Amino acid sequence: MRLFAYEDDDGAESLAVDLGDRLIPLEWPLDVLLQADDWRSDIDRRLAVLDGARGIRKGSVRPAAPLPRPGKIVCVGLNYGAHAAEGGRDAPSHPMLFAKFANAVVAHGQPVVRPEGTDALDLEVELGVVIGRRARRVDIAAAMDHVAGYVVVNDISARDWQGSPPALKPGQKGDGQWLRAKGSDTFLPMGPVFVTRDELDPRAGLRLRSWRITADGTEHLMQDSSTTDLIFDVPTLVSLISKAITLEPGDIIATGTPAGVGVFREPPVFLETGGRVRCEIEGIGWVENPVIDWSDRPPDDERDA
Ligand code: MG
Repeated sequence: MRLFAYEDDDGAESLAVDLGDRLIPLEWPLDVLLQADDWRSDIDRRLAVLDGARGIRKGSVRPAAPLPRPGKIVCVGLNYGAHAAEGGRDAPSHPMLFAKFANAVVAHGQPVVRPEGTDALDLEVELGVVIGRRARRVDIAAAMDHVAGYVVVNDISARDWQGSPPALKPGQKGDGQWLRAKGSDTFLPMGPVFVTRDELDPRAGLRLRSWRITADGTEHLMQDSSTTDLIFDVPTLVSLISKAITLEPGDIIATGTPAGVGVFREPPVFLETGGRVRCEIEGIGWVENPVIDWSDRPPDDERDA
């Protein structure tokens, strides 16, 4: 099942069943829905009541992030072999974990803001795993029982703060860790579509692509890969994380990014303020955002268009 997150007329987040150009509103936001153990049955009951409803036109609503305030955003670094290699790193022997906070989440159409002091914003398309049932010390074999579904996210990264050598000016040093480089406000665009886990199999291969769009509108394809190249798959990640950190419904795991990011190009390329960035995953959809400067006056919210 495909669910579409949007803002209702009062600005509150809501969720609808996505039927292509039409939406059947469910009345609950995803984080509320996932608190129920039998949330799939709740949707089915609601749809039975609404059978034959015309719904609303998708083009008439403002997209929202399905989970605008996740309790946890656990991220995985270097989880695609070719991405580790393009940075001159060996494939890791165990998952490299880091975190973002909810301040980073923005919806499709909302700006990614370059903070003062970084000149090296980069994109990372990633499969976002949404937890649907509390996961505490679960085995790999049972891990998927705790996954509700998937979203597309963009792990925006300030490469100079991250300390990536190609992004550093002479004498410049990174922060020594990734909190500011990965966790700044607006650094996790999240697509409006949430797809339940029964509809997608990342092990079978979902194509992931990303584009850097310059201010003149030119689209540059950056990443083009498949989830078959994940080093640590979804059940392995859920199990390993849950043995140290209890995962709750509505928590997100950003599973890592494939090769093709801007910092490791020759020469390096970064996101351009006044331009845009788009990330897409086959079977889910895309998230696209304008990129602006911290000193820019916030533009009109283009989701109103
Ligand atoms: Mg990443």
